[in-house]
Amino acid sequence: MKTFCGRANPTTGAMEWLEEAEDYDYHQEIARSRYADMLHDKDRNVKYYQGIRAAVSRVKERGDKAIVLDIGTGTGLLAMMAASAGADFCYAVEVFRPMANAAVKIVEKNGFSDKIKVINKHSTEVTVGPDGDMECRANILVTELFDTELIGEGALPTYEHAHKYLVQEGCEAVPHRATVYVQLVESKRMWAWNKLFPIHVEAEDGEKIIVPPSEMENCPGVPSVCDIQLNQVPSSDFTALSDVVTMFSVDFSKPVQSASTSYRVQLEPVRSGKAQIVLSWWDIGMDPSGMINCTMAPYWVNPTSALQWRDHWMQCVYFLPREERVLRGERVQLTARRDEYCLWYSLQRARAEEAEAAGGVESPVCRCHAHLLWNRPRFGQLNDQARTRQYIRALRTVLNTDSVCLCISDGSLLPVLAHYLGAKQVFTVENSGVSCSVMEKLLKANHLEDKIKIIEARPELLKPSHFEDKKISVLVGEPFFSTSLLPWHNLYFWYARTAVSRHLSSSVSVLPQSAALHMMIVEFQDLWRIRSPCGICEGFDVQTMDDMIKDSLNFRESKEAEPHPLWEYPCKSLSAPQEVLAFDFREPVPQQCLSTEGSVDLLRKGKSHGAVLWMEYHLAADISISTGLMQISDEKGTCAWNPHCKQAVYFFSSVLESEALSDPAAVTYTISFDTKTGEIAMDFKLL
Ligand code: SAH
Repeated sequence: MKTFCGRANPTTGAMEWLEEAEDYDYHQEIARSRYADMLHDKDRNVKYYQGIRAAVSRVKERGDKAIVLDIGTGTGLLAMMAASAGADFCYAVEVFRPMANAAVKIVEKNGFSDKIKVINKHSTEVTVGPDGDMECRANILVTELFDTELIGEGALPTYEHAHKYLVQEGCEAVPHRATVYVQLVESKRMWAWNKLFPIHVEAEDGEKIIVPPSEMENCPGVPSVCDIQLNQVPSSDFTALSDVVTMFSVDFSKPVQSASTSYRVQLEPVRSGKAQIVLSWWDIGMDPSGMINCTMAPYWVNPTSALQWRDHWMQCVYFLPREERVLRGERVQLTARRDEYCLWYSLQRARAEEAEAAGGVESPVCRCHAHLLWNRPRFGQLNDQARTRQYIRALRTVLNTDSVCLCISDGSLLPVLAHYLGAKQVFTVENSGVSCSVMEKLLKANHLEDKIKIIEARPELLKPSHFEDKKISVLVGEPFFSTSLLPWHNLYFWYARTAVSRHLSSSVSVLPQSAALHMMIVEFQDLWRIRSPCGICEGFDVQTMDDMIKDSLNFRESKEAEPHPLWEYPCKSLSAPQEVLAFDFREPVPQQCLSTEGSVDLLRKGKSHGAVLWMEYHLAADISISTGLMQISDEKGTCAWNPHCKQAVYFFSSVLESEALSDPAAVTYTISFDTKTGEIAMDFKLL
């Protein structure tokens, strides 16, 4: 069996569909999965176990047999908890075949094969009856089907079906209930992830302001959840306008309805301000008493209780369709709407009846296209005025009134900046219909349609006529491309630059003139957990899962770096940052690979969990932009990272797997950039 996998090609900037063996897909899925993170989530595991024990005892006390249904059993963990809590029998349902196979092995290894039946099906396909998958309906329903938004992984339709067909009326459910909490806030930082702010440009002839198109300002955006580690956002980055209130809850022991619906709460603002954002999280109560509670509440909600770090459940940021001024003490209504899989919010000042009319039941759809082109970090990046000022300063050093300027980047503001800074002519190449459409709207809103020419063509297909037979004297890029996943994928700029070589004048200025790949060895505060083996989880041997993850990580022999936004994942530097490879954009991409090897000394004590890699762009002499490290702040080596970019993380499995490893003194590396594929391969050794 073959399957097709979509992957961006860094040499063409385009998505390509590659034929891969069937197991490629699932190895990717397991290697990058959250199973390890879940197994390390002590708070979750302990509370599930308590809830399951309590449910089994309640059923037993009634004199009934305890028949458990665990939907989405994964490693089989919750079913094993039920079996060891005294359940008479467990049906453990798992749709993902490699996981179902792993569950069979893990259940066997732990000696529960006679108590647990693993069923490799989607729960909606499970049959009940003498010849069915389950002999009879269950009286205890155990699941862990939640994502950060609670319902995004299809918990509601799964529960709805289970109550109709798989469990008895009045069954016990673990968790018993989920509750969603909200807090209304004003936050310039987060609002900048969803709207383009006016951009100020100091031009020769006075200040110019780039304004967003009105369509963009009124656009409801996209419904995809914005899930972040809210615990990494300092309280100075937002102002609470309301208390934390309960938005809605779902009782899992009763029939659940998945059909679209809405919920409404009254809020009394505790402060006047601009209502922009709804912060949200949930908790699950494992038993009816509400005493066993697993919460995702961020640090300011229960300041005295310890926070459990986890990455499989975080917190949500919802953007209101538009910002709304609210006054302290003057009540407003907050409406949450949901379909089967997602949630969205709106705010009304009006009374309930009027509120009913406002806002449809359809989930939000981006009308301005910008939310399709720019993801949330990209909006944040474009709104970063300090960053824009760097580009302005750099552009001034290369532009003059004779400049014929070409911009290569997706949906960038650089062409507009170049025009305001006095370039004679400005062209921009846009790779996709969506980026063309966004650029057209932006130019129109700023009356620049006839000043900047948008070319929708691939760089290698450009002809002299596209440039009115002129040679390009200034080539600019941020560079930024929406298909990039890892930091070096934006080196597509170099390939595009190579493809347009014949259109460049002999004295062309290229901005950035060069880039460099930087690397540093770090110790993570928590992120290491997602790739670290678990061994024993709450007394159950889950090593089979650890081995499976390891196999999948090694599937391609050479391990790969993975993208993570490190502002959300604190770490400390153990080595000095080091430049490892340089890329000269003034010259075309060379034929041969660029390779390097060397070693870095470890300056601080700590666990070398991995290497972090990022790009720095040299815009002009002494003007550089880092997409990674911004600062190492103190003696301890605490790092500050660019908040708009993901960095590449290469985990050292030898460190993650060993309990006690004597502190290495240095790390050697070999890193090579394959100019044919645009990919970077790397290998590290701890000395
Ligand atoms: N119960 C395990 C794993 C939870 S992850 C634990 O708590 O550690 C959720 C698992 O549910 C995934 O493996 C996913 O493949 C599976 N799943 C989700 N919905 C399902 C459904 N309706 N039927 C069967 N499996 C499902």
